[in-house]
Amino acid sequence: MLVSATEMLNKARDGHYAVGQFNINNLEWTKAILLTAQELNSPVILGVSEGAGKYMTGYKTVAAMVKAMIETLNITVPVALHLDHGSYEGAKACIEAGFSSIMFDGSHYPIDENVAKTTELVELAHSKGISIEAEVGSIGGEEDGVIGAGEIADPAECKKIADLGIDFLAAGIGNIHGKYPENWKGLDFEALDKIHQATGGIPLVLHGGTGIPADMIRQAISLGVSKINVNTECQLSFAAATRSYIEAGKDLEGKGFDPRKLLAPGFEAIKATVKEKMELFGSVNKA
Ligand SMILES: [Zn+2]
Repeated sequence: MLVSATEMLNKARDGHYAVGQFNINNLEWTKAILLTAQELNSPVILGVSEGAGKYMTGYKTVAAMVKAMIETLNITVPVALHLDHGSYEGAKACIEAGFSSIMFDGSHYPIDENVAKTTELVELAHSKGISIEAEVGSIGGEEDGVIGAGEIADPAECKKIADLGIDFLAAGIGNIHGKYPENWKGLDFEALDKIHQATGGIPLVLHGGTGIPADMIRQAISLGVSKINVNTECQLSFAAATRSYIEAGKDLEGKGFDPRKLLAPGFEAIKATVKEKMELFGSVNKA
């Protein structure tokens, strides 16, 4: 069922596990993630970036597809449909389109403007029962063409934004989007602990979950991280499975060119990646 992400993340915080946000790009992605969540009896968050929303022809299409799929596949675990790194305009559009959760990424605004815009969106989202995530300290790496430096968020700024009534907070702790470089210094757990202490137990969000070692993920969860975003990893596993299907010449055998066959190995690969993450995050059987 489609729900806001508030309750599932409060439960995750209290139960010391994390719920995965898996970004979707099309029907195969959405179906693979929903079916895996149901099979593992896990809550799940479907992330939609503004670029992916555009690709899928708009937020209304996405919301209609997700709602219909939840119904026809009999998905009974809690599912949140969440805008990832939303702009001010994008957040409003998703509230209109029927998303159950939004992220407003005001991290590139001066703190006062971030506060003003976040305040307005909190009120609007909550009036419709929609959860809202905000961000402090830009998260490094490339995201829809925007390259962030990977800052460590200031705990005082985190408190300021958390106090606006948002439901969960993304704070930079050295994490970056995409693949991690060889010389990556790892997560800053001291900073995470300070942010956790300063923000009074609000569920924290770890962006850039692809390639963070399992022990760092577990430690982050123990320090208050309740939502972990995974995007690139599903793309990599989908691409690798599709590549080996084609390199094995299977698209040339019989009706191997049928998209339902051609995309099947990638679909299974996404399912396997999502399963692995749900097990690592501890959300299995927490629906
Ligand atoms: Zn992110």
